[in-house]
Amino acid sequence: MARLIDGKAIAADLLDRVAADVTAFRARHGIVPTLAVVLVGDDPASHVYVARKLAATRRTGMTSIERRLPANIDQAALLAQIDALNADAAVHGILVQLPLPPGLDPAAILDRVAPDKDVDGFHPVNVGRLSIGGSGLVPCTPLGCIHLLEAVIDDFRGLKAVVIGKSNIVGKPVSLLLLEKECTVTVTHINTRNLPTIVCTADIVIVAAGRPGLVRGGWVRPGAVVIDVGINRVPGVDGRSRIVGDAVTHELDHAAAVTPVPGGVGPMTVAYLLANTMRAARMAHDGNGT
Ligand code: NAD
Repeated sequence: MARLIDGKAIAADLLDRVAADVTAFRARHGIVPTLAVVLVGDDPASHVYVARKLAATRRTGMTSIERRLPANIDQAALLAQIDALNADAAVHGILVQLPLPPGLDPAAILDRVAPDKDVDGFHPVNVGRLSIGGSGLVPCTPLGCIHLLEAVIDDFRGLKAVVIGKSNIVGKPVSLLLLEKECTVTVTHINTRNLPTIVCTADIVIVAAGRPGLVRGGWVRPGAVVIDVGINRVPGVDGRSRIVGDAVTHELDHAAAVTPVPGGVGPMTVAYLLANTMRAARMAHDGNGT
């Protein structure tokens, strides 16, 4: 039976550490780290995600500022909101919840967030810093994946990692983090040929494709570690929908360890949002983020 990596418990530990950092920071500076969340429109899933993020913010003792904006807001008005948050010294982190409603240009909006407040790590400056191994803000889900791997792997050097998916949010940044750890990394995508044959060579498999049931037992070599990033809503037996990942977990008994969905990468993503906000506050007031 593969070990299940308990993302919920590991994320709870991380949030406890962030809460301790918040207390120490407050004692040092008399300032509470503050996260601003910008939510545009009425996408129900986005409202659920934002509620989770705000609950975690409260749990760490941070302050949050919410900007709930109508779906018909125009680009200039949204950019003006971001400019105001950039200029507000009391705000340390800014999160723009994606997806944005049609008619808004997400790239232009994410580019407007000040890089040192960009707690999602999506700004081109932070993407550049990550690619040269620098100390910018790094996207939350990839940080969560690495943290979960560190729970079961001591030495990453020379391990073969296969990443399925090349998105800017997950696949590319997690590949760079694995490369920094001196894994030999293969990044794959929808047009990769012979994907199962490539995945079979991996010590570490990270799947972020958004395809339920993609990674089958026969794709994974004995002793590999599988991090399942996928979040897919599928019909359940009782007619109610349920959430599954991209890997067929019950076929992975021969793996060394796997992450469950839900309860694996998801909670880590939220926890790293707060860890990044704490880091941004330290960069602003202590001169470093460590
Ligand atoms: P995306 O749609 O931007 O990218 C998907 C990638 O997977 C693409 O590069 C595509 O080429 C590749 N792909 C799709 N089908 C494939 C196939 N059959 N074989 C090989 N590659 C394939 O998605 P994303 O934003 O990176 O998200 C991926 C999944 O991860 C989604 O299910 C999303 O909901 C989930 N996600 C979870 C978290 C979390 O916190 N757990 C965070 C972000 C994304």
